[in-house]
Amino acid sequence: MSETTAAIRAEALESLLTERGLLSAEDVDAVITRYNERVGPMNGARVVARAWRDGDFKARLLADGSAAIAEFAFEGGQIDKLVVVENTQQVHNVVVCTLCSCYPWAVLGLPPKWYKDPAYRSRIVREPRKVLKEFGTEIPREKKIRVWDSSAEVRYMVLPVQPQAWQGLAEAELARRVSRDSMIGVTVLDDV
Ligand code: FE
Repeated sequence: MSETTAAIRAEALESLLTERGLLSAEDVDAVITRYNERVGPMNGARVVARAWRDGDFKARLLADGSAAIAEFAFEGGQIDKLVVVENTQQVHNVVVCTLCSCYPWAVLGLPPKWYKDPAYRSRIVREPRKVLKEFGTEIPREKKIRVWDSSAEVRYMVLPVQPQAWQGLAEAELARRVSRDSMIGVTVLDDV
């Protein structure tokens, strides 16, 4: 069984067990928390910090996310075909899996509960501006919002805009400040 097939089976099994009341959302979250201590968004944050500090790396990352991130040798999988999308002054990117919960584990860990919620999965496509506002993220009218639909084949990660006030910080310090949600695209990083 390929890693992808295994992941699809695991996702299907989790949905079934949860629906039948054999597994609670809290049980799943406990596993997610443990997983996050080893494989989690701290890895994605290192990638973002490197991209902000190193223009050549950023170019490689945007051209081929999987290849550029292979330089870090992260464990965790699910990034065989990773596309990194860059937030700019003109465009805000946000990631979803409308079908289930595909997510780039090696860089972001396991998906949060809300990412798997049918409401998020359907609404972020229909009314992204409104859903982002519920996350406390107001995107100016003039800025375009792009929603990226992940699948078992292609997964996405957002490269957030670096706050002005963070210019000049060392890569390790930047990595400590990059949040998971900013790499899914439901929040932006505050300029403080
Ligand atoms: Fe999925």
